[in-house]
Amino acid sequence: MIKFNWQIIGHKPIISYLQAMISNNTLGHAYLFYGLNGLGKNTLAQYFIKSIYCCSNQSPCDSCAHCRQIVRQIHPDIIYLECQPGKKNITIEQVREARAKIHRGTFLNSHKIIFIRDAQTLSLAAANGLLKILEEPTAKTIFIFLTPTLKGIPETILSRVQVIKFLPVPLKELEGYLIKKGLDKSQAYQLAHLSQGCPGRVLSLLGHSKLLAEYQHGQQILLSQISADLNSRFALVEKLAGQAKSEKSQQNAAQFLAQISCLMRDALLVKNLCFDKVTHVNLKSELANFSAPYSSLRLAALLNRIKMTQRYLGQNVNLRLALENLVLEF
Ligand SMILES: [Zn+2]
Repeated sequence: MIKFNWQIIGHKPIISYLQAMISNNTLGHAYLFYGLNGLGKNTLAQYFIKSIYCCSNQSPCDSCAHCRQIVRQIHPDIIYLECQPGKKNITIEQVREARAKIHRGTFLNSHKIIFIRDAQTLSLAAANGLLKILEEPTAKTIFIFLTPTLKGIPETILSRVQVIKFLPVPLKELEGYLIKKGLDKSQAYQLAHLSQGCPGRVLSLLGHSKLLAEYQHGQQILLSQISADLNSRFALVEKLAGQAKSEKSQQNAAQFLAQISCLMRDALLVKNLCFDKVTHVNLKSELANFSAPYSSLRLAALLNRIKMTQRYLGQNVNLRLALENLVLEF
């Protein structure tokens, strides 16, 4: 009887389901994990893969040859497919290489795993190339796809995999985990809310209280900047979009929009006294002051305007103009 030792926050039904398949030797041949980044899909997939290979009864043991090779991504029977740095897609050439490796058979007469990160970046040709092996699976071949969204994943792939949806981890559960890790109640509460149920978003802040304080201070300043007079708001845009078309400006603008979108959502929640769902719980009084002059309808309209600007950003628009039009609305 295998005793599983998966250190995962949340996702209990998924964990039980996958562990039962390993124990009962009923592994499927293709899984697709999807859900927001930071939910723990990759972490869970790593445990799943280790436990498929690990020879210990305490699985994974993290010390056998399989476990060690998996951690270093050098296991001979695992093929990694991911979007290369600087590229937009997983290419057909990468898939062809993977196919050749699959047909070579396994080194250890065990499973062969094809692990596809960011599956939404598969080019159409690459997805079609993969389809050929998905349709006629070789014995003991397992596909594991990871993607934050089902958009861009062809129906032909979706119909041949077990789709496993990852949901946000309940904040109370995450809070309990953080307290067990040594955080005091107030810090655990703040971090759990900041994660919005995606543990990966805050785990890097664990043990770095200075980073958390800096982040929170930054959000406080941002909130005061977007509610300042028009000159100050335009100065903020100038700072963000100064170097008109540079990639840096695009990144700055995307980050700015993501942050104010989150703050506007918070303002709307505070306005309607839904404190449980607020992300920046440390800014409750600032958010209440900010939202006081607005109606809920107006805040919702602002949130929509931010979303619209986020969509424009992906198109070839004048960045500065788009941001100026947005801050005019506040
Ligand atoms: Zn092991």
